[in-house]
Amino acid sequence: MVSITLLVIGISVAVLHPDSPLPSQWNPTKDLSIDAPLTPITRVQMLRATRDGATCAKVLHAYGARFDELPNLDRSENCHIHDRVRLRAVGDVRVGPVETRCDIALRLAMWERHGIRRAAQAAGLRVTRLFHQGSYNCRKIRTTRGGADDWSQHATAGAIDIRAFGLEDGRQLALLRHWDGENAGFLRAAWRTSCDWFKLVLSPEYNSLHADHLHLQASGWGVCR
Ligand SMILES: [Zn+2]
Repeated sequence: MVSITLLVIGISVAVLHPDSPLPSQWNPTKDLSIDAPLTPITRVQMLRATRDGATCAKVLHAYGARFDELPNLDRSENCHIHDRVRLRAVGDVRVGPVETRCDIALRLAMWERHGIRRAAQAAGLRVTRLFHQGSYNCRKIRTTRGGADDWSQHATAGAIDIRAFGLEDGRQLALLRHWDGENAGFLRAAWRTSCDWFKLVLSPEYNSLHADHLHLQASGWGVCR
């Protein structure tokens, strides 16, 4: 019993002490660092950063993302942007500018840092730009059978649509034109890794409505199609 008590005290000191030798990516009480190696604690830190606008902005600033913090937009009960930012770049990769929620910007940054970059390197490419086709859009869901009654996650900027990757040499890999082309391997790897950072992702594989973009959504149940 005494040894368990001492162990708990030891772990508490290691985690909570300001001069803790524990690297921050292993310390659940520390803020997420986008650049840090991924650990099982990353998810805990990510959850906190995506749920709190102030922490989210702090984490993005620390990474050197370029964005403006804007006041909340409240159009109606169903249409709003909370923790609103105008995002221009994550790391070295230009995005937009696009108005979205801070947690969407954060997820994009994690995807760029830990997914796109590696997928591009493996394919001998360097991505310098993400082309989007919008995040906030006060509308209901669209299906292949027409409209639906539910509000789209775009109505609260809880999703973003990415239509192309810009490369260092100026080329643009657009999902519509290149999904089955010579860089199909990279595009599919980028799509797969987006599912690590977004909870619902719909690609050109899903249906014709998504032939020209990846729909990346913060809420959902692990759908990656
Ligand atoms: Zn979408």
